[in-house]
Amino acid sequence: VIERITNVLNEPHQLDTLELQITSSIGASVYPEDGLDSEALLKHADTAMYKAKDEGRNSYQLYSSEMNTISMERLMTENYLRSALKKNEFELYYQLQVNSITEEVVGIEALLRWNHPDLGPVSPAHFIPMAEEIGLIVEIDKWVLTQACKQRKIWQQQHFDCGRIAINISSQHFKHNLIDSINFALKESGLSPVLLEIEVTENCFIENIKHASATLQKIRQLGIKISIDDFGTGFSSLSYLTQLPFDTLKIDASFISKLPGDLKQCQIVKSIIAMAKGLDLTLVGEGVETTAQAHFLTVNGCDVIQGYLYSTPENAKGVTERLAKQQLLPTE
Ligand code: C2E
Ligand code: MG
Ligand code: MG
Repeated sequence: VIERITNVLNEPHQLDTLELQITSSIGASVYPEDGLDSEALLKHADTAMYKAKDEGRNSYQLYSSEMNTISMERLMTENYLRSALKKNEFELYYQLQVNSITEEVVGIEALLRWNHPDLGPVSPAHFIPMAEEIGLIVEIDKWVLTQACKQRKIWQQQHFDCGRIAINISSQHFKHNLIDSINFALKESGLSPVLLEIEVTENCFIENIKHASATLQKIRQLGIKISIDDFGTGFSSLSYLTQLPFDTLKIDASFISKLPGDLKQCQIVKSIIAMAKGLDLTLVGEGVETTAQAHFLTVNGCDVIQGYLYSTPENAKGVTERLAKQQLLPTE
């Protein structure tokens, strides 16, 4: 039966001049083994459908009881996540970026935290993939953008000279009316675009470089700066560096962690810096934890240092106190 349904769904559909192909993820449960009433059967079929989605699109799964434990946890988290925005459980943390030579604050990155009712503050690395999967990331990203702009405006009103506020943009948001979200956030907060920077990863442009280029050009025309985040960790070619209008390149923490002991990593980092300089990009070293790493980056020409050495991510109150004191001496 499933195969027959799949075959029917897979038939191309003609919409005017467009030919559309639909794929399906199907979960099935069987009476009476998997449930005695429609509610139990549908619930288990739903569980099996999520498994099918996990296995890759256009596939099907029959329910088995082992699926249950994993998916109950997952469902709980999904439900929690769906209500987190309404319940005000998200909070922004901020991490300072400092000039490698003068140690002055030159920027601040906004980093999202979810104050989970049971688990406490959760890193976005844990929930963003799920938020992407259930189609919630755009809404979350919009909230982040607006909140972060409002906070930067407050720091401006308090006369803190702390550079641009940098905001991470998910690839789904990038492809989904990002410009409208930016305009909304700027209007809501009253922040000048020259105090805003967005961070994108190569996932944003790997599929459609033309669309990405047009979007980035428009963002730049507003006066906003653009960083390429997690540089060196993806799979795409270097040619996008010449095709897209970036201002800043962030060297991923995975390259920094073994500095300066690992000679190969040292060579890679030096080469990244040389290449970025040649392309007139500002360089930020991410995940800098030791003075030795900061020293290596500084002498090799890296402009900006970001990491626990100078600043762990803190909430707005903590960062405000920090900015007020301007005590940015290394904590090592
Ligand atoms: P990212 O943008 O590359 O951010 C840097 C990550 O490294 C942050 O993790 C930060 O807390 C951590 N970090 C900073 N300094 C150090 C250090 O010295 N040592 C170590 N070990 N780690 C350091 P976090 O906050 O857990 O965020 C993880 C990722 O989640 C971010 O990576 C970013 O890609 C994404 N993310 C964060 N906030 C948002 C958001 O508002 N929207 C979207 N779409 N993604 C976000
Ligand atoms: Mg980032
Ligand atoms: Mg990064």
